Amino acid sequence: MGARDLSDLDFEAITPEIVREIRRALRNGLDPLKVDPPMSLSKWAAENFYMSAESSQKREAWTAWYFQPGIMDAMSNDAIEEVDVMKSARVGYTKMLLACIAYDAHHKKRNQAIWQPTDDDAASFTKTELEPMLRDVACMADVFPSFLAKNKDNTLQHKKFLGSILHMLGGKAAKNYRRITIASAKLDEIDGFDKLIERSADPFTLAWKRLEGATFKKIIVGTTPRIKGDSHIEGRDLAAQARMRDQVECPHCGLEHPLTWGGKDKSHGFKWDGKDETTVRHHCPHCLASINQAQFLRVAGGGAWVSECGNWRYGQDAVWRNAAGIPCKPPRHVSFRVWTAYSPQVGWDEIVREFLQAVASRKQGNKGPLQGFINETLGETWEDDEAERVEVHELQRRAEAYELRTVPQGGLVLVAGVDVQDNRFEVVVWAIGRGEEMWLVDYCVIPANPADEREWDDKLDPYLQSTFTHASGQSMRIEGAAIDMMGHFTHQGYNFCRMRERRRIFAVRGDNQPGKPIGGRATLQDVNYRGKTIKRGVKLWYVGADTAKDLLYGRLKVTQPGPGYVHFSNKLPVEFFNGLTAESRVPVRTANGYVTRWVNVDRKRNEPLDCTVYALAVTHRLALHTYTDKMWQRLETMYEPDLFAPPPQRPAGYDQPDAEVPPMPGTLPETPRPSKPPTFLQQQIAARRRRPKEPSL
Ligand SMILES: [Zn+2]
Repeated sequence: MGARDLSDLDFEAITPEIVREIRRALRNGLDPLKVDPPMSLSKWAAENFYMSAESSQKREAWTAWYFQPGIMDAMSNDAIEEVDVMKSARVGYTKMLLACIAYDAHHKKRNQAIWQPTDDDAASFTKTELEPMLRDVACMADVFPSFLAKNKDNTLQHKKFLGSILHMLGGKAAKNYRRITIASAKLDEIDGFDKLIERSADPFTLAWKRLEGATFKKIIVGTTPRIKGDSHIEGRDLAAQARMRDQVECPHCGLEHPLTWGGKDKSHGFKWDGKDETTVRHHCPHCLASINQAQFLRVAGGGAWVSECGNWRYGQDAVWRNAAGIPCKPPRHVSFRVWTAYSPQVGWDEIVREFLQAVASRKQGNKGPLQGFINETLGETWEDDEAERVEVHELQRRAEAYELRTVPQGGLVLVAGVDVQDNRFEVVVWAIGRGEEMWLVDYCVIPANPADEREWDDKLDPYLQSTFTHASGQSMRIEGAAIDMMGHFTHQGYNFCRMRERRRIFAVRGDNQPGKPIGGRATLQDVNYRGKTIKRGVKLWYVGADTAKDLLYGRLKVTQPGPGYVHFSNKLPVEFFNGLTAESRVPVRTANGYVTRWVNVDRKRNEPLDCTVYALAVTHRLALHTYTDKMWQRLETMYEPDLFAPPPQRPAGYDQPDAEVPPMPGTLPETPRPSKPPTFLQQQIAARRRRPKEPSL
């Protein structure tokens, strides 16, 4: 036994029983730990791999389809570090991945981890795919003998083999990317993973860190793609050095081309007569002549994986070659794309039939099946061309001539929403009037370091206390503000809000569950104040973000000033309008079928939208949406135009709050904190009682 074998051993796993087993094996002339000569995954699988009964029709020796060896050999090639597979359903990807897991454990004896989108997905993968494979693939007994299989260390989360370990993990929690050391990271169904894991980093960056110190690093990422602009795999495919497509030689012109879906506006790809899917043929992009599926399968075996740039090719000889056909070093990062038409087990007519049915459903208003077809059959991302998106320019065109930080006639209550970013606060202030007509009063980016608690007091607070000028000449203050607690700075944020409850400054968090109320439930959060924990010291309010966005986008479609209309100042920067309209409602696949959600498809800056959602949450906290006619009238009388008032003066700036300005009607002067803060309406009424009777005319 060589020294290298021992270094691969997990010594913790060695019990006297194992030592006896090894001795027995050595006596029998078998060496379960010997390093075999390097063998590619496709060769290893052809000799060793079986289909299991649980996940396929019957248990039988596994035979690769013509396009699979190219992908599998990239998975096992030590010169290739990153392998991406953007694929449809029914191309045998799970089997290739399972074979790779078996190969890494049996042949290479490398520590590995496989992440699935959730813990449940990981457990289900272990039960339905991994465990049947370990049972049915005979050679796995070499590294997974029965005494190890029965060991209590073999759980749903990890399997110990002789010479290596395999972790099966859910991809949601950041803790699942810590503490393990592996040589091969496998991320399955990556488009089901969060964009950022617990808002820290993307899943590849976290998984890649686990490979530090490995002689041969490998990351394998595969998925059925989901939504355009929000797809992990699309971004990875674009970043790959070699974007490989399986190409066959056209029997008519002799040029190579991949199978493509084509489309109405394309002269190549799949074409059929009218509604008769059985007439489907694939048209060559070079000569436009066509072949049927039987003709395709006759030439498919002679095809090769060729990169889109033409610089790399991997064919039946299993050698990487450059454009000149000369053997070369493989690319470090390679991406494969494959879809259902390549499967020898799915008829092309079946694909067309699915498409026709999906189109029919869409005509009846159900887009789910069409997205399903594009994701699961074509293996492409879904782009909703009918996304409910309000045109930016339309909103900017209707912007009105009023200065920022001034409140036009009709605006009666000021509410603010604050988004906290790593290097700034973004604040949007809205004026609300009768019928919830809204005026954008200010959009402000305050550079700051929210990690420093003093910056909240010194930079955000003065802004929230600053005064705005109403068209009547009176001063107005922000009546309520909601601050996002999603980022890294919840500790600072909780403290800030806790001290300002009386000023109706709320800690909020977006709740992305569909159908949640805008002014949702609250939970009590612990606060850490000067090193002491104050149990349940602050209320955290959940905002039904989807509901708020529906409400806002509905209002943006109101064309006549009046109830529900949204006014904008023509002094706003274009970034505000872009941010406000950054998201679209698109269908998203969930465990319970398709639902539509608000998604930031192009990943634009969307802080103005988030801030507005929080500001809407404030209107609900103040119960403005339940105000009666009389209540609005009361407010209106406070801001009647005063023809003799001096012209409105713009405040000097948010960083110089004017402490001399008397509190606006509706706000009590600062007094010692009462046991329970009065509600907004109570304050309004109190203010009214204090006001002198209006002189009769
Ligand atoms: Zn051709």
